[in-house]
This record gives sequence, C-alpha cells and structure tokens, in this order.
Amino acid sequence: ISEWILPPDSPFPLQYFPVRVQGRRAPSPLTPAEMGGDGPAIGVDLGTTYSCVAVWRPSHNRVEVVPNDQGNLTTPSCVAFTDAWRLIGDAALNQAARNPVNSVFDAKRLIGRRFNDASVQGNIKLWPFKVIPGPADRPMMAVQYGGEEKHFTAEEISSMILVKMKETAEAYLGMSVKNVVITVPVYFNDSQRQATIDAGAIAGLNVLRIINEPSAAAIAYGLDKMPGSGEAKTVLIFDLGGGTMDVSIISVQNGVFTVKATSGDTHLGGQDLNNRMVEHFVQDFLKKHKSDIRGSPRALMRLRTACERAKRMLSSTVEAKFEIDKLHDSIDYYGRITRARFEELNMDLFRKCIEHVEKCLSDAKMDKSQIHDVVLVGGSTRIPKVQQLLQDFFDGKTLCKSINPDEAVAYGAAVLSGECDRKGQDFLLLDVTPLSLGVEIYDSRVQPHIPGFMNVLVPRNTTIPVKREGRYTTEFDNQKSVRIKVYEGEGAWTKDNKLLGEFMLEGLVPAPRGVPKIIETMEVEANGILKVTAVDM
Ligand code: ADP
Ligand code: MG
Repeated sequence: ISEWILPPDSPFPLQYFPVRVQGRRAPSPLTPAEMGGDGPAIGVDLGTTYSCVAVWRPSHNRVEVVPNDQGNLTTPSCVAFTDAWRLIGDAALNQAARNPVNSVFDAKRLIGRRFNDASVQGNIKLWPFKVIPGPADRPMMAVQYGGEEKHFTAEEISSMILVKMKETAEAYLGMSVKNVVITVPVYFNDSQRQATIDAGAIAGLNVLRIINEPSAAAIAYGLDKMPGSGEAKTVLIFDLGGGTMDVSIISVQNGVFTVKATSGDTHLGGQDLNNRMVEHFVQDFLKKHKSDIRGSPRALMRLRTACERAKRMLSSTVEAKFEIDKLHDSIDYYGRITRARFEELNMDLFRKCIEHVEKCLSDAKMDKSQIHDVVLVGGSTRIPKVQQLLQDFFDGKTLCKSINPDEAVAYGAAVLSGECDRKGQDFLLLDVTPLSLGVEIYDSRVQPHIPGFMNVLVPRNTTIPVKREGRYTTEFDNQKSVRIKVYEGEGAWTKDNKLLGEFMLEGLVPAPRGVPKIIETMEVEANGILKVTAVDM
C-alpha cells in the first residue's frame, strides 16, 4: 500500500509533514488492572480537519496522547476511496490531490444536519466531492468505490475515522479498546450530538460520554479541580483549528461547567492561512518565471502542501524554505518566506480572531479582567503571532499552553474517560442546560386567541442529567390528540423561543375538556441529549 500511496512521481516526500513527526512515544507497559474489564477507555477529539486520540493510564496516573502509524499525534479527518482501497487519515490526505472527487473531508460540517440547511448548501459549493440528498433529507457523500458509486452519511464517514483512532490506540496499547469519550463543539445541537453517538456505535464503540470541546480543554488543565474551586472560576477557551475558530467563555464551579457565551467563525482557520501563502507564491512564481500556475490544479496542490509545511516550520523558526521539482512548465521552484512576511499576509485574519474574543466577552457581559484563565486550543494557536496578540489583549496574562494545543481536547476527554471508568457513568455533574426547556401551552379559557406560551419544565442552568414532569390536560371536549411542541429559550411566549421538535399524542379517550390527565416528561441525559415523552394517564 505504501508503494501505491507514494508512486515514483509523488509530489510528496516520504515524510509528508516532517514537523508533525514527533517520534513514536513508547507506551508505558499495561498493568494487569488496566487489562481487566473492558480495557482502557480512550478520549477522541473528532475534529473537522484533524482528529486526536489519548488514553488515560490509571497505573501511571497520566494521559498519553497516542501517535498513529505515521508517528503523528493528530490524524487528518479524511477518508478516500479508490477502485481497490479505502484509505483513512494521512494515507487518504496524501493522495487527495490526485483523487479529489473521492477524497472526503469535513464530514463534521454535515453531521446531524439536513441537506437543505443553508450551511450545508454553502459548504457543498466549496467541496470537490459530491453531496446528494438522501432519505429523510439527510446529506450523503457520493464517491466511486470498488468500481461503483457508493453513498455514505456523515455518521458513516465519521465512524471510519473513529475506527482509525480506535485502531491507533489498540496498536499502541496492544489490546482492544471499547469505551470512548468523544468531544463535540459547544454549538452542536441535539441531533448533531446524537449523530456523533451513532458514529461511535457504527464504529463498534461504547460512547461513555459526549463532552463539549472547550470543557475538555479546561479539564486537561485541571481547571475544574483547582484549589479553592468552591468559588466560580471563569475560563476563556480560544480554539483556532484547521477550518474553524471558536471562542467560549465557561464558568467552572465544583466541577460543573456552564457555558456563558460563545463566538467564532465557521470558516476561519489554518487553511485560510495556507491560502494566503499559496497566493503569495503564485504571485512570486508569476514574477520570477512569467508563468501562471493557477491553471494547474496539481501544481497548486503541490504548492499548498509545501505551504502547510512551511507554515508549521514558521511556528518554530523565523524563515522557511522549500523546493519543488518541476512545479510548472518544467520549472523547478524555490520558495522562501520569513515569519514576518507570513504574519503580514495574515494579519487581518489574526485580528479577526481577537475581535471574536471581544465579541464573546461582550456577549457574556464581562470585562477581560474577569477572566481567570485563557486556554489555547487548536493547531493554529501554535503560531507565535496568534499567541502574542492574545496575550497582549489580556494585558500580558500567561496563557495556558503547556499541553500541545491540538492535543488538549483529546487529553481532557481521556481524563474524563478515566473518571467514567473509575466511577461509573453518572458520576459527575459536569454540564448544565444553557437555556430553559419547555413545552407550548394554550389556555383559550383565560384569554382567547393568545399565542402559545412557554411552560418551562427544565429551567436554564439546571445541572444534567435531569428528569422533570409536567401535568397537562385538554383544551376542548372530546379532544382526540394533543400536539406537543418543545422549545428552548427564555421568552415567555413560544414565538420568541426556538422550536426543537414536536410530536402528536394520539388516541385520547373522549372526555370533557380539562378531564384527561396528560403527563409529559422531559429528560436531559448526561450527554446533553433531550428526550420528551407524553402519556394519557
Ligand atoms: P481541527 O480544526 O480539526 O480541530 P486542529 O486543532 O488539529 O484541527 O488544527 C489543525 C490546523 O492546525 C491545521 O490547519 C494545521 O495547519 C495547523 N497547525 C498544526 N500545527 C501547526 C504549527 N506548528 N504551526 C501552525 N499551524 C499548525
Ligand atoms: Mg478542534
């Protein structure tokens, strides 16, 4: 396979991202206790562009971030299909330039969404692979695989990446792995969380917990266990990854995480920085050789690969050089860029990131002096300029960056998986409901023709898991069914809140209005997933 991945004319040297190869870390030997039961649990950061797996080692009382078969600590969230193979991770990304329509990535942007969502339609325009509407308006990625057109849901693609992460951990530990904690962005709704759990199930994993990425990063730094943590502590998590940037302000008190505000950009990340660099070298090539490489996708892709490497180098050196044989028109190209030039090319993007920090603070109605800790997350926060701008913004505050930022989320997930393992599933009060949850009710006797109003069953900031009941009745004589509409939000009227879903309770026994007793139950699981049921008593 490695021959096939790297044909003689491959534009990629053997070590695709040499700066990523940090050397295989030898696992510490498994102890008998770790080998018992279901084996060690793992934490997986299932990222949009890169994923990372870490394992909690109880006998050593520490987390180990697991290198993949290439020796890299993060694995591209990319799956590629050919007539003969299915490739996942580095192998898939390495051949993507030659097989763009069958190399799928960004599955996380589709998971739990509908084909007709505006964001899905917007993304489809940018992707080289095909996405078609499937059953129940689910988006399906369409590829040629084994000589046929095959359709995969985002859950299936994510499950393939999860299998890769599971196998990575298994190869490292030398035993099978079953239990996993998976992280998701704060803004993931119910169906996106459920779809992530489904992806775990398809991968044959038992999902112990779904946890928010910034909460996981805070756990990695032990911010939930600081001395004096009886008082609330406010943490700002700054996550600049491959394709997205997220700022979250979280308050931590007695191990409970409350999201105060979030801000961010769904299309701002490392790839945009690469684009700027590619554009820079395209112009340079044009100037030096009077030849435009923009017409050649292959040349562009080779240049992009070189830029990715140069960018990573610039995080530790002040100048990066590369050469590409016969880049275009048989011209060998020598590229050179300084860190200062790179920063200049991207300054407006870096500033945008800081604007999101300001916006998040103002949404949380907070001043920057009220932030106790600032945590760096995401590979692109390795860039010194990003760190400097952020540190300057916080008046020289020391940033939490001792854990590699692209590993921090998986690290925290692994800590949590260890705790789940030790204490069972429902041990910690980890999260709260960010918004009130309720059902719509009408009362035409009180006031005819008024809009539905919100009957809150689970008030905001209730720690989860939680189960609450409400008692209701019918509005008309001999009513046969009741429509149950579930909302979240703080408005007194449901029209001001967000409709999460609805269903009909049918087959009521005919009775005068006000007589039937209907009990509705709302249950929010530890994962943040809401279940609503109704019975006619
Ligand atoms: P995700 O956004 O999928 O969560 P990561 O947090 O791992 O992914 O971020 C991936 C991004 O980080 C990529 O765009 C990559 O180019 C960038 N990156 C990784 N290492 C470095 C580095 N040393 N310097 C600059 N950027 C880096
Ligand atoms: Mg990430």
